[in-house]
Amino acid sequence: MDLDLSKEKKDIQRAARDFANKELVPIADELDQAEEFAWNNFKWMAKLGFTGMILPPEYGGSGFDELSLALAIEEIAKACASTADILDAHLVLCAGLIYHWASDEQRQRFLPPLARGEKVGSFAVTEPDAGSDIGAIKTEALRDGDSYILNGQKTFITNGDVCDTVVVFASIPDLAPRGMTAFVVEQGMAGFSKGKKFNKLGMRAATNAELFFEDCRVPVANRISEEGKGMKIALATLDRGRIGIAAQAVGIAQAVLEDSTEYAKKRVQFGTPIAQNQAIAWKLADMATELEAARLLVYKAACLADKGEPFSKNAAMAKLYASELAMKAATWGIQIFGGYGYMMEYPMQRYFRDAKLTEIYEGTSEVQRMVISRAVIG
Ligand SMILES: Cc1cc2nc3c(=O)[nH]c(=O)nc-3n(C[C@H](O)[C@H](O)[C@H](O)COP(=O)(O)OP(=O)(O)OC[C@H]3O[C@@H](n4cnc5c(N)ncnc54)[C@H](O)[C@@H]3O)c2cc1C
Repeated sequence: MDLDLSKEKKDIQRAARDFANKELVPIADELDQAEEFAWNNFKWMAKLGFTGMILPPEYGGSGFDELSLALAIEEIAKACASTADILDAHLVLCAGLIYHWASDEQRQRFLPPLARGEKVGSFAVTEPDAGSDIGAIKTEALRDGDSYILNGQKTFITNGDVCDTVVVFASIPDLAPRGMTAFVVEQGMAGFSKGKKFNKLGMRAATNAELFFEDCRVPVANRISEEGKGMKIALATLDRGRIGIAAQAVGIAQAVLEDSTEYAKKRVQFGTPIAQNQAIAWKLADMATELEAARLLVYKAACLADKGEPFSKNAAMAKLYASELAMKAATWGIQIFGGYGYMMEYPMQRYFRDAKLTEIYEGTSEVQRMVISRAVIG
């Protein structure tokens, strides 16, 4: 097994790292405090081709694979996890879903503006009473001639307040309990509106909103795949998304490790740098070791996806392990920084707040353990 990255992959990694260090690091804390969608970062990513990087050139993308995307997401998340979050929802959950499941006509219609970052994408399955249990969604789609009439509410939707194109999951009552179906809803369609924007703990430069559908007429031409295929599409899309969330968590944990190491070498107490104490040094050793393991889990899941092999279990393992590591590392990072770690002037508290989300969205840690245990037990 060759664990070395190819030159092409190293080039992507370097491009993402350069972008992150130059454009994102200096403003990440400011954007976190502003709590607005990071428009400039999105536009930068569009200019550099990240917004369409896994889509083929005929749809406006640059045709990179899942491993390349994971490498880019790690570098971007290390600098500003919110920006990586925006990219994941836009590219993997929205554009990627359309690429993998839509007809060629729909791909031609929806993907080029998403790939070029002229439009922002979202993915909307979660509802107030349907989170982990997405089969419980209440949003309904009733057929009426050449359209469906959608009624319902979605919540917590990433990029929701600014999205132009959103993949919405709704149930067709006649097909219950297997009626879940995916539709593309576009900004400006009558009956589609955006509700409150949430005030969040972390990932604050990626915004989340409620979406409402009130007699929203969606053309049949905007239905993705067949009626009743929605559950399969949502779960398969979340499998891919989980590789991205795991890569985000690895990026956050890498930032924690680097900042903690640098601080521990400089901070002197009792006449020696605190890194000289085994209690601190071993925390760094454990972080570095588990970070390496998490990164390899991400690479493996991405490589399996790229080879067209089953990767659902591996994506769940990568997300579970990497997100719990990011949270543990950030907790230790604050401890290593002592009182300074608790202060807003250092980014450690942002890593801590951002890391927590990676254990929740696109399936909580409990849900990942359900996926993995089902694969193990059979
Ligand atoms: C910032 C943010 C961004 C998001 N972005 C999007 C988005 O873009 N699109 C979208 O559709 N959704 C999005 N979500 C929704 C997200 O995926 C859900 O919040 C998540 O899946 C959990 O659902 P819930 O919040 O309803 O929690 P619940 O499902 O109510 O779970 C509550 C707790 O119970 C546990 N639990 C539930 N069922 C079980 C079980 N069977 N066994 C053991 N434990 C269980 C959970 O793990 C959790 O700890 C986002 C959420 C957040 C917070």
